[in-house]
Parts: sequence; C-alpha cells; structure tokens
Amino acid sequence: MITNTTKRFWVVLLTSVGFLLRNPAFRKWFWIPFAIVGIGFLLPQNMVIPVQGATTKSWDDHSFWAYPWGTSITHKGIDIFADKGTPVVAATKGIVVYIHEGGKGGKSVMVLGPKWRFHYYAHLDEIDTFPLAPVGSGSVIGTVGDTGNAKGKPPHLHYAITTPFPYINLKDNKAVHGWKKMFYLDPDTWLRP
Ligand SMILES: [Zn+2]
Repeated sequence: MITNTTKRFWVVLLTSVGFLLRNPAFRKWFWIPFAIVGIGFLLPQNMVIPVQGATTKSWDDHSFWAYPWGTSITHKGIDIFADKGTPVVAATKGIVVYIHEGGKGGKSVMVLGPKWRFHYYAHLDEIDTFPLAPVGSGSVIGTVGDTGNAKGKPPHLHYAITTPFPYINLKDNKAVHGWKKMFYLDPDTWLRP
C-alpha cells in the first residue's frame, strides 16, 4: 500500500485540523495547517546528487521502477553506486524525520524536504545525523554501505522520494504497481542536468 510516511503525514495533518475545529477557542485558526502546507510547496528544491563525488553515471537511469525486483516487486528508487564509506549527503534542505536500523533498508534516514517530499536514504554503513536535525542541501548524513538487503551486493545508496500528495499525472496504467507512481517520484528527474 502507500508508504507509512504518507499515512503518518495525513494522520498528523488531519489530527491537527480536527483539534483546531473541535476547540471553539481555536476554531478560527483551522486554516493554519493548510497555510503551512502551502508554504512548503513554495520552497525551492535545489537538489544535488546525494553521494559525494558521484556523477549521473553512478546510477542506471532505467533502474527506477525496474521489474521484477525481489520482494519489493518494483524498484521504487535509484541505486547510486560508490565505495563503502563514501559520504552520503542530503539531496535537499530539510528536517530529518527519522533514522532506522533494520529491515530491507538496513541503516536508513528519512528527510522531509521542500514541497512535502520525503527523501529516503538506505543501506548506509554509518548514520551521521539524528531525528529532527535540520540539514542543508549537501550536508553529510551518513556513509554508503551495504546494510539491509544490500548485504553481499556492491555498496550503494538506495535513494527514493515519496510524496503524500499524489501526482495524478504520474499514474502509469502500463507499469506493474503503476498507480504507486503517483506517490514515488523518480529522483533522476531532478538529478540529471
Ligand atoms: Zn535500490
């Protein structure tokens, strides 16, 4: 289904609007969460390749939505190959929403960036950030590794972008999981000059 991040985002947004509407003293402020959402969409993205020294040749531009792709069925991001220990940097400015260890992603970091896009950095060898840390575009957040289901494969950064606001125009009826393309954006769109 849609990602947990998308679900949590909508729970937080609707809970805060609900809280404001239920309290007569706050009711007049119900529009504030919507204004915050609007401002988020106006922030410029200024994206950089999230692995230090990597170029557009460091990933295969056909790997996004590659099928079949193990237990994920389709590959919902790109794999940027680099030596283990190479710094992983934030692709955009934003706020670290969580760090996680375990599961398919191994050591991973989620950053909320401009336009309410969530940037997922997985298979890290080391995590060099913490929840709620503000990051700039290019800030080091960890190093490239092979944790999670990348074990035994060449070290790489799995980089994915999700959005809780579906982009209806990206729905792809021909692809496997094609409707999910409304919620997972292809990083290549912004990383290739
Ligand atoms: Zn991957």
